[in-house]
Amino acid sequence: SDHQLEYPSCPGDMNWGKLYPYYYNDETKEMTKKVTIADIGCGFGGLLVDLSPEFPENLMLGMEIRVQVTNYVEDRIIALRNNHIGKYQNVNVIRGNAMKFLPNFFEKAQLEKMFFCFPDPHFKQRKHKARIITDTLLSEYAYVLKEGGVVYTITDVEDLHNWMVKHLTEHPLFERLNEEWETTDKCVSIMRNATEEGKKVARKQGAKYVACFKRLPDPTII
Ligand code: SAM
Repeated sequence: SDHQLEYPSCPGDMNWGKLYPYYYNDETKEMTKKVTIADIGCGFGGLLVDLSPEFPENLMLGMEIRVQVTNYVEDRIIALRNNHIGKYQNVNVIRGNAMKFLPNFFEKAQLEKMFFCFPDPHFKQRKHKARIITDTLLSEYAYVLKEGGVVYTITDVEDLHNWMVKHLTEHPLFERLNEEWETTDKCVSIMRNATEEGKKVARKQGAKYVACFKRLPDPTII
């Protein structure tokens, strides 16, 4: 349960240098970069691994609630770093409940991209509040995302897709990006094919529903 979860009281209390040692300056005791891409419920880490070489200037963090899965991703990244010297230094994973502690890890407007790839569908009506996209959580995601930042969603469950589109569309701080944008954005094609869940769906020749949303500017207060 969450009782065993370790999380910083604020983003500045987090030991980021441990996760990204190449980006820690020993003299100033400061990070030279901050995380700008988050993979929420990253599972086995396929998206992070494929994004890493595509965005060498960005630090990326996977968040995963299952201990064994998080340990697997940690080991996977250590192995990649050892086998490709200087590479994969910009990705890492932490165990955490993304539905609870996101603002403990990220400052306001810190993130450029957030990925929600094949989130757990929670099919039953009474379980819908457990879904990772809800009105309350969207306001938290909007808080950590910068203006113009993008929320990426993909699922093979049509009902969940419709749910995510509905909630994001209704939220005042998000606007859907059109299909033309989707076809030109390289993250969309990576997200379609990189994750373990996405590969499983492809093997079963299942449909994949994509929806991406831009973080709008905060409304001006008159
Ligand atoms: N994104 C990966 C992929 O596409 O292969 C994994 C998809 S899997 C169906 C959903 C993942 O979200 C699981 O690994 C689960 O443990 C994780 N998860 C569910 N709720 C979470 C939460 N509140 N915080 C972090 N991770 C969560």
